[in-house]
This record gives sequence, C-alpha cells and structure tokens, in this order.
Amino acid sequence: MICDNLSINEKGHLSLAGVDTVEISKKYGTPLYLMDEDRIRYNCNLYKNAMRAYLGENSLPLYASKVASFKRIYEIMKDEGMGIDVVSSGEIYTALRAGMTLENAYFHSNNKTDWDIEYAMDNRIGYFVVDNIEELYAIENEAKKRDMQQAILLRITPGIDPDTLEAITTGKVDSKFGSAIETGQAENMVKYTLSLPHIKLYGFHCHIGSQVFDADSYLRSSDIMMNFIKDMKDKFGFETLQLDIGGGFGVRYTEEDPILDIPYEIKRIAEFILEKAKELSITMPKILMEPGRSIVGDAGLTLYTVGTIKSIPGYKNYVSVDGGMTDNPRFALYGSPYSVYVANKMNEDRNFIADVVGRCCESGDIIQQNVSLANTGRYDIIAVLTTGAYNYSMASNYNRLTRPPVVMLKSGKDYIAVKRETLEDLVRNDV
Ligand SMILES: *Cc1c(COP(=O)(O)O)cnc(C)c1O
Repeated sequence: MICDNLSINEKGHLSLAGVDTVEISKKYGTPLYLMDEDRIRYNCNLYKNAMRAYLGENSLPLYASKVASFKRIYEIMKDEGMGIDVVSSGEIYTALRAGMTLENAYFHSNNKTDWDIEYAMDNRIGYFVVDNIEELYAIENEAKKRDMQQAILLRITPGIDPDTLEAITTGKVDSKFGSAIETGQAENMVKYTLSLPHIKLYGFHCHIGSQVFDADSYLRSSDIMMNFIKDMKDKFGFETLQLDIGGGFGVRYTEEDPILDIPYEIKRIAEFILEKAKELSITMPKILMEPGRSIVGDAGLTLYTVGTIKSIPGYKNYVSVDGGMTDNPRFALYGSPYSVYVANKMNEDRNFIADVVGRCCESGDIIQQNVSLANTGRYDIIAVLTTGAYNYSMASNYNRLTRPPVVMLKSGKDYIAVKRETLEDLVRNDV
C-alpha cells in the first residue's frame, strides 16, 4: 500500500496502524478522520534526528500547524520538542490551550491584523515572520508601546518555481507572499528593519511551495538565500542568526508519487548549506525547517459510508458518500489526487469505475474521479487515504453539515482527539 502503516487484515478489511478501519467506522460513525499518532511522532523524529545529525543541535523543525490544528496535535508537538509555525490568533489560542509556550513559535501570514499582532505579543510570541512593510511598522509601534524589542524573521521570495501545482507554489517573484530579492524589495526591507529600534532581526525565511518531490529545489533556494545572507553582511554588516528554509516535502497520495527519503534529502541540503557557508565565509545560522504535510499527511485517512450508487448508461457511475467537499475540499480546490478504496472489500477485484462524490449541493463536490473500486453498494465503507493534512483544517459547515470527529490511534488503541460536531454546535452563534 502507499504507506507502511496501511495493511489488509484477515477479514479483508483495511487497517491503519494495525487497527481495523471498518470496525472503527462502526464504533464512531462516519464520516470520520482517523489518525495514527505513532506515525505523526515517527515523522517528527525523521526531521528532528536528521536535522540534529546534519545541521547541529540548535537546528529545529517547526510543525506548520495550519495543516492540522487542534489541541491534541499541539500536545504531541510539545511532547516531541517541535517548534511550531502559526498563521492566526486562532492557531495561537489553540496551541496555548494545549499547554504550549510560544518561544519557538513563528507567526506567518501575509496579513496579520493589529489585533493579531497585539494578541501574539501579549502571549510572548517567539518570532514574527514579517511579510511586508506595513506589518513591519505595525510591529515596531506595538513593541515601542511595550518598551521591548520584538524578534522577527523577514520572509524573502527567492524566485524559485518548484514543479508542483500552481495554487501551491509560493516562492515565485510575483507571489503574494514575502519580498522578492530580484526586485530589490528584500534588501530594502532589511534596511528598514535595521533602522527600527524595537525590532530585532534574527534572519530570513523562505518557503518555495508544497507537495515538492524535487529536493534540488531546496538546494537552489538555499543557494539564493545564502548569497542573500552574504550580500546583507557585506552591505549592512548584518550577521544572520537564523535561516528558515520552509516546508513543502511531498507525501504519497497515489502509487505514482515517489517515496521521498526525508533524512537523506535533509543530509543533502545540510551538506550544501555548510559548504556554501564555508565558501562565502559566513557563520552558519541556526537552520529551521517547517514541515506540515509530511508530518501528518500519511498519518491520516477518512472513512465514509456509501449512500447511493448512480449509473448513467453510456456515461459514468457515481458513488455518493456521507461527507464530501465539507471535510475534504482539495479536489474541488485544485484537483488533488487521492487513493480511494472500499475498506471492507480490500481483497475483491476492483472493476467498478466510478466518481466518488460528496453529498453537497455542488456538482464540483467530488472526492475523486474515475476510481477503480470493488463492486460497491449502500453501507460499504469508503476509505480515502493520506488525508491527515489540509483536510480537517480546511473543513467547513457548508450545507450545515457537521464536521467529522478526529479519532487517533496510539499503540493499537483508539481515542477521540476532536469530537464530532453536533446540530447544536451549528446554531451556537446564531442569535
Ligand atoms: C504551508 C506552509 C508550510 C508547510 O508546507 P507543507 O507543504 O505542508 O510542508 C510551511 N511554511 C509556510 C510558510 C507555509 O505557508
């Protein structure tokens, strides 16, 4: 199967982390997000160990928490000694409620409101990753009021275009994120920042995109960033203390996706940066990475119950499930591929070709098209694999559907990390 935490048991059912997904779906109902906690921890350790080994003890992976943000995830990250990257006051609040402190929290976003900035500083955010000039001045003002110096990184656009989907590239010159080196705006940002008394610049951040398998893209962006660091040292005498090379390593959604050897890729990137630092005679900064998808993606899957099967002779078949774009909008947003199975018929021939669709009032409410399924009927359980990232966190209440629960598996035991929403939850804020 596409990840080694998946298997088929003696009943011909799909198992995640050795637990029968069909039984879990009976126990908790569907739709349901199921996550393998051991896998999440394993993925954290891939980064932690490789970064420590090749980039030194002070290097740190930050969990990009937008991919899956709820209290239990932050507890796991705290336990694993991961830093976090957050993009809103809501994520900060959730992390705090999970008992995290924010000294290793990095606050991203291309538009932080004044309120976000105050809230983050009230809670002693470690670093802002400053995207633009307005934000820089807003932080300076707030820090001045508090008579303190706020630590920041600057988000720099290296001008790299990795081979991934258009909607998830972020490092190109015309990106909405960051300041580009090519246009001179990045250098100007450094100049302004260094003139502000209540801001302490620690270094630079870049993020080239997501679902990236071509690790050479990171060598190219690191090369550009290290040259930029050297340039800022020469021009302003600025010593870079931290370089955050972003996240983006891909996960396997289908058998066609390659298997990425993350420790090996980190080793290559590390060797490249160390060599480059020597060549340019710059002191090695503390290196940060910000994995998101590759921490939780392959730890999760979604379970649905089949409701209706519609065959349109001469055209196609539809299998409708009891969830859809409300719990997984990624096909609707950017045509994301997924592997889909009938979880209770894993050993049967897969000769039934159908579009697996949701229950929402939108034709675009599609989970995946042209899927080869076992012969499917009402009450069968559909499993969509690799949904640990960008699914729960992107879920909505469209059509007043309640969001599914997140059930976690740890050492063969299941527990609820997020409860299923109730009908009462839907009207909680209605007056
Ligand atoms: C989304 C994002 C990440 C995480 O990307 P993944 O592809 O999920 O690893 C990291 N850093 C920034 C700034 C991001 O926006």
